[in-house]
Amino acid sequence: MKNMQFAILGLGRFGLSLVRELNRMGMDVLAVDSDKNKVNLARDFATYAVEADSTDEQVLKTLGIRNFDVVVVAIGENVQSNILTTILLKDMGVPMVVAKAQNHLHGRVLEKIGTDLVIYPERDMAIRVAHSLVTKSVLDHINLSSEYSILEIITPNLFVGKTLRESNIREKHNVSVIAIKRGEDIIVNPTPNETILAKDILVVLGKNNYLDRLSDL
Ligand code: ATP
Repeated sequence: MKNMQFAILGLGRFGLSLVRELNRMGMDVLAVDSDKNKVNLARDFATYAVEADSTDEQVLKTLGIRNFDVVVVAIGENVQSNILTTILLKDMGVPMVVAKAQNHLHGRVLEKIGTDLVIYPERDMAIRVAHSLVTKSVLDHINLSSEYSILEIITPNLFVGKTLRESNIREKHNVSVIAIKRGEDIIVNPTPNETILAKDILVVLGKNNYLDRLSDL
């Protein structure tokens, strides 16, 4: 697979973490911030680290930003810069523009101007943490919509030693096991004959009310 080209505009905690992780995954990353100190922090992880104002159209053109596959606007507090940058990117024809929203209203504006993906990192992380604090068996939580989620749960005792078919998890509990994490391995799309072991972590998809019942078992 050809390496995807990413540009991260705004190197706060979120933007910088994104640069680090994409770099760790072997991707090409352009890191941009108007603050020289932030640019210096990104130098070791980014393919290019540039000090620039992302609300300046000429700057974006010089950086060749429209040739990037994905551009992430990770500017936080300065909502105006965040929106201006996003509009410029969409107008220049960047195929995938991701922007971080400060709140719901800001998110609605970003959607109206054609942002391909609006993210709310603080809110989403709070949801994940809340679920894993309240229900100790839930290790991770991904919201797919207001109704559906994916959970990573510690295997409930009553399933241990049974195959997926015998556990009746789909018919009785109305959720699907989409993967099983077993130590370092991950079994994707497990067959009905897969036996569930005590230390397995189940990755399950379903409606939130059914998932809540399952994680209470
Ligand atoms: P986090 O929570 O991720 O730390 P934040 O939401 O507090 O970040 P800010 O610190 O407000 O976000 O913004 C992130 C970065 O964006 C800052 O380093 C800031 O210098 C940079 N930034 C703000 N405006 C611009 C701009 N016009 N061009 C480039 N960078 C900018």
